[in-house]
Amino acid sequence: MATTAVERKLLIAGEWVETGEWIEVRSPYDGGLVGRVAEGGAAETGRALDAAEHAMQDPLPAYERAAILDRVAALLAERLGEAARTISAEAGKPMKAARVEASRAVSTYTMAAVEARKLSGDTIPMDASPAGAGKLAFTLRHPIGIVGAISPFNFPLNLVAHKVAPALAAGCAVVLKPASQTPLSALLLAELETDAGLPAGWLNVVCGPASEIGDVLVADERVKLITFTGSAGVGWKLRERASRKRVNLELGNATPVIVAADADLDDATSRLAANAFSFAGQSCISVQRIYVEREAYDAFLQGFLARVEALKIGDPADEDTDVGPLIAPSERDRILEWLEEATDAGAEVLAGGALEGELLRPTVIAGAPPDAKVSCEEVFGPVCTVTPYDTLDDALALANGTRYGLQAGIFTADVKAALRAARELEFGGVTVNEAPTFRADQMPYGGIKDSGNTREGPAYAVREMTEERLVVLQL
Ligand code: NAP
Repeated sequence: MATTAVERKLLIAGEWVETGEWIEVRSPYDGGLVGRVAEGGAAETGRALDAAEHAMQDPLPAYERAAILDRVAALLAERLGEAARTISAEAGKPMKAARVEASRAVSTYTMAAVEARKLSGDTIPMDASPAGAGKLAFTLRHPIGIVGAISPFNFPLNLVAHKVAPALAAGCAVVLKPASQTPLSALLLAELETDAGLPAGWLNVVCGPASEIGDVLVADERVKLITFTGSAGVGWKLRERASRKRVNLELGNATPVIVAADADLDDATSRLAANAFSFAGQSCISVQRIYVEREAYDAFLQGFLARVEALKIGDPADEDTDVGPLIAPSERDRILEWLEEATDAGAEVLAGGALEGELLRPTVIAGAPPDAKVSCEEVFGPVCTVTPYDTLDDALALANGTRYGLQAGIFTADVKAALRAARELEFGGVTVNEAPTFRADQMPYGGIKDSGNTREGPAYAVREMTEERLVVLQL
């Protein structure tokens, strides 16, 4: 059930701005009105960029930026319950997962404050070459300029935090466009930023039509970096169009995990059942493809299916719900079509595969061919495939059989197998004896291939959001 509807405005130049137009935010669970936000467009984005430009003319020293980030962390920690309820209401995320996201956003701010305090350059060993002898050189880290940030619906608080907090740590002003389905969490965070004493113009939030706002961010030369998290199609097009800017992309995945026969099966089934279906699979690193060594396949399935059947489906506002709705009915229909494609090609549904009320039950399928969409594209729903394998070579080839490369995992007791997987899985991150859905906010997180071109995590994002400036002194 939705909480009382709230109303929020855009944040531009330190003012909460109405436009006369509103975007309604409705619960993905029951369609109830969660809130409404002012709708902006190209004009508001232009004003937000003016404000950001103006703010950056009066740089904030690192100690002030760090103190503000620490205060945001403290304010968010005080309002964790409200933040989690906002995430849950607008994204349809079960409260259990929404609370985890809100707590993680506190960590993201805390880590960003650390990065603001230690932002520094390098000393260059100039006398290491004859050309440099007699000189002293060092680099300064300089803010890259205005950051345009575009965030997705599925982590509407913490993925905004992963863009805004490092940008402020780096000394960059931000124009943020949150996902239209989930702007309330972003605007709550913006309120905390202003409460924490962030001066006007350093953070501006514009909600509205994506392509119109995106076009301004792409075209305006004052935007030096666009940080985008979302789908691969939108992300790579943005990058093509903004060829003179740094465009950092955090995109999708079709997350594989290998379970060797020597793995602790009880532990593996527990972690994988939770991480294939949490938030109905709508995480970029939701477990999607499970490859199990043939001699352990039956035992794995027995434990795994029992855990999947025990997941509680229902209202995301209930504290004991594990699996809630998809973000939109059209997504549910798309996934049902993908399931039909797989079953038409011979796949067998071992669990779920059908609706419970309006919700898609957690679904496990076996025998899906490698070229079925559920096997190689990003499902982004409560569906995973299970497939037996005979050799680690086979498992690695199957896991790599996707255009994506964000995170992958292996469960095994064999260190050599684990290290081989770490080397040969073509992904930005590999987890061992942990679901590849794992993320702690200080990690370098990001993908290769179609999954993106950067690493997030405050320490890494701050590097992206700063330029190295070389200073050479003749001694
Ligand atoms: P999406 O449809 O690509 O939207 C993401 C953001 O881009 C939204 O704010 C959206 O605005 C905006 N957008 C859409 N079209 C645009 C355009 N032409 N120009 C500029 N902005 C545009 O993705 P989503 O459905 O929200 O998120 C799911 C995807 O994100 C999945 O593929 C998932 O794997 C990926 N993801 C990746 C990571 C990661 O860290 N690698 C993390 C989370 C999610 P509107 O909402 O107004 O359309």
